Amino acid sequence: MDKNYYDILGVSKTASQDEIKSAYKKLAFKYHPDHNPGDNAAADKFKEVNEAYQTLGDPDKRAAYDNPASSFGGFGGGSSGGFNGDFGGFSGFGGIFDNIFNFFGGGSANAHPQGRDVGIRVTLSFEEAAFGTQKEVNVTRTEPCSACNGTGAKNGTEFTKCSTCNGAGKIRQVQNTPIGQVASERVCPKCGGTGKIIKEACPKCFGKAFLRVNTKLKLTFPPLMENGQTVTVRGEGDKVKGGTPGDLVIAVSVTPHKLFTRKGADLYMTYPITMMQALLGDKVKVPAIKGDPLAVTVPEGTQSETTVKVRGGGVDTGKRKGDMYVNLVVDIPKNLTREQKAKAKELAELFKDSQYESVKNFNRK
Ligand SMILES: [Zn+2]
Ligand SMILES: [Zn+2]
Repeated sequence: MDKNYYDILGVSKTASQDEIKSAYKKLAFKYHPDHNPGDNAAADKFKEVNEAYQTLGDPDKRAAYDNPASSFGGFGGGSSGGFNGDFGGFSGFGGIFDNIFNFFGGGSANAHPQGRDVGIRVTLSFEEAAFGTQKEVNVTRTEPCSACNGTGAKNGTEFTKCSTCNGAGKIRQVQNTPIGQVASERVCPKCGGTGKIIKEACPKCFGKAFLRVNTKLKLTFPPLMENGQTVTVRGEGDKVKGGTPGDLVIAVSVTPHKLFTRKGADLYMTYPITMMQALLGDKVKVPAIKGDPLAVTVPEGTQSETTVKVRGGGVDTGKRKGDMYVNLVVDIPKNLTREQKAKAKELAELFKDSQYESVKNFNRK
C-alpha cells in the first residue's frame, strides 16, 4: 500500500481542493466503466482514482494522509505506511458510486450505449459548393437487427438469463483495502451487459444483434462550402439499441473550376487580353458563374496582371453577394510575319522611352 494518491490523481502535494476535484473528475470520466466496457485495466484505474479521491477529496482525510503520525498517534511513521487506521466515516460499498453519479448524472455500468460516428466523403461540383445543394448520399452503418429487435436471439425471445451476473448485466466487485471497502462495477463479460444469454441465434444477424445497412440520405449542403470542410449530421451514424446514435461525419471535396477560384463569396479569374486591347483599351465580357457575362472595361495602357473588380459579380447566395476579381493578363503574339515586324518597328520608333513607366523607374535605380 505505497501508492501515492497525489501521483494517481496527477496533482501536486500543494494542489487546492478544487484542483484535486477537477483532476479526479477528468480521470474518473476517462476510466469510467461506461466508457471502457470490458476493459479491466481501465476498471482498475477507475478504482484506484476513486480510492485516491476518497482521501484527498476530503480535507480532513487528506490532512491525516499528509501527516499520518499526528493523526494516528505515532503509528507506523513514514509516508502512507501508517494507513491501518479506520476512517470510520467511509461507508465503503456505494459511497464511491454515489460520488461518481453526482458527477455523471447517474446510471449503471451499461446504461447508455453510444453508437459510433460514421465517416463518408462527398464530392461537390464548384457550383454546388458555391450555391449550396441537396444531395442523396449512401451511408453504410450499423443498425439494431430488425428481425430480432436488436437482441441477437431468434424472434427476439430465444434467450435465458445470464448466470454470471444473474441477469443484471453488470458485476459488482467489492475489495477490502486499508481505507475500507472499495466497490467497482463493470459490464458482465459473459453477456456483455445484456443480462441475457442467447439460446438460439437470430438467423438474420447470426446472433450479432446488429446489421450493416446501406441507407440513402438526402442531405442539404449550405452555400459557400469549402474544399476539405467537415460537416456533421447528428444522429445519422451507427445506431444502437437503447442508446444514442453516432453522428455522420462528412468530409467535403470540391471539384476545381476550369475558370474560377473562390474565397468565400468572392470569385477570382484570370482573363487574357490582347496586346492591342491593353494598349488601346477596350470593353470585354467575361464569363460569370451564373447568368449573363460580366462587362469589364479594360483601361487604355493596362499592364499585365492588373486586377479589375466587378462589384456583385461573385456568388450570390441570396443572403450575400460576392464580387468578381478579374486578373487581366496581356497576351503578346509570337512568330510575326515580315510585314508585322516592319510595322511594329515603325510603331516602336514613334514611342518615347519616357512613356514606359516601369522601364524608366527601373533604370533610375
Ligand atoms: Zn451477464
Ligand atoms: Zn437479428
